[in-house]
Amino acid sequence: MTQPRPLVAGNWKMNGLRASWKEAESLAEGMAAGKGANVDVMLCPPATLIAQFSSGLKDTDILVGGQDCHSELSGAHTGDIAAEMLADAGASAVIVGHSERRADHGEASDVVRSKAHAAHRAGLMAIICVGETEAERKRGDTLKVVSAQLSGSLPDDARADNTVIAYEPVWAIGTGLTPTLDDVGEVHRHIRSELRDKLDEEQASGIRILYGGSVKPGNAAELMAVTDVDGALVGGASLKADDFLGIISVYAEK
Ligand code: PEP
Repeated sequence: MTQPRPLVAGNWKMNGLRASWKEAESLAEGMAAGKGANVDVMLCPPATLIAQFSSGLKDTDILVGGQDCHSELSGAHTGDIAAEMLADAGASAVIVGHSERRADHGEASDVVRSKAHAAHRAGLMAIICVGETEAERKRGDTLKVVSAQLSGSLPDDARADNTVIAYEPVWAIGTGLTPTLDDVGEVHRHIRSELRDKLDEEQASGIRILYGGSVKPGNAAELMAVTDVDGALVGGASLKADDFLGIISVYAEK
């Protein structure tokens, strides 16, 4: 069974102005110098920067993604952005169901699934986030919670070329805490096995499962070496090109 090509995606969240282009430019320079070998690299800046980044990065291997989308094509949804609008601005992917969206905007898995469908309708790759809270982990409910989120959020047309799963324990996001490597491995194996229950072998083994939660240059190598970890979704450490390149270059050194 061939391993999927890894993906390292940077989620800038609500950070970045037009002047932040210089970080994207430095990232492109580092990639051109060989640090991005053997890995797909993506930046997900705020929606206001997608058009600028997509056009500036069009001659590079760096992909651009959105951080959220609405499930509908258009209409009376003030402040929301349709998947088609992200695609029109040059994005090729969108994160859906990030725990900050699930918590801050009350997005349940059925909403996440409809957003993933919208992403596919627009020709975007959907990066679907799942992950347990600290209380759920302490109760021993991690696998149960991840299973329920995955079943509820995975669209019925999910395939290896249009869907990525990101396992992001909520308590590890932005905290500097990470699960043990055994715990990461257990959840990723579980997600793979759930995908095998739902999809045929080729699609289930080809869907990339990213780990996210306090990934830094110093811990990336050990996390990325865990079986069934096919890359990373990176928040804070993706804001500075040097740190992000430190994570991406784990794969160039393989
Ligand atoms: C994230 O928000 O997706 C994330 C993983 O954040 P951080 O890397 O900062 O923990």
